[in-house]
Amino acid sequence: MGKRDNIKTTIRQAVDYWSKIVDECELSVDWAEADTHCWRCGCEKGLERCHIIPDSLGGEDSPSNIVLLCKRCHIDGPNVTDPEIMWDWIKAYSVPFYNTFWGILGAKEYEFVYKKSVAQEIKDILDLAGVRYDETVEKNIKDIQYEVMANAGIHFGHTYFNTATMAGIHRMTLKKLANCYRVVFPLCTDQKDEPKVPWWL
Ligand SMILES: [Zn+2]
Repeated sequence: MGKRDNIKTTIRQAVDYWSKIVDECELSVDWAEADTHCWRCGCEKGLERCHIIPDSLGGEDSPSNIVLLCKRCHIDGPNVTDPEIMWDWIKAYSVPFYNTFWGILGAKEYEFVYKKSVAQEIKDILDLAGVRYDETVEKNIKDIQYEVMANAGIHFGHTYFNTATMAGIHRMTLKKLANCYRVVFPLCTDQKDEPKVPWWL
């Protein structure tokens, strides 16, 4: 993990090698921009050359064993000797548009914690308030979110909100939104119909 100044494989070599093997439709990145954008999340930030099979476990310094990931994805990536795992993981997370990846992950985290999507929460709040979703509402939500973000921090050593923080920002935004429309939040849903399933099942 971390920077390895002694990797000889260049960014160009890794792109040239993999662009002939992997279809870009399966990735968050276009091959034309794969020398500057992370292959998992598509962000353009601090690209690192990462071993597919870790060098500590015998992985070679060759294009076939190198992918390009941002620091954040590098930390989250698999570190195992089966080379298929890295690509399974990268492909499983692909998104069609740049700059949407981490937002989607934050929304997924919200859904994981609260068992309901952010979009559904917004819809239910507005339905209860008898308000139709339009540009004014959209701007209101954005303004609230902006305000809420001032109350969110970044972990030491990170340069980003982690997914739990992003889920928290969604939750805090929804609370304020509900309050704005005088709706009690969390909403009383028919939880009786859906018994809580533990996360590990
Ligand atoms: Zn990334």
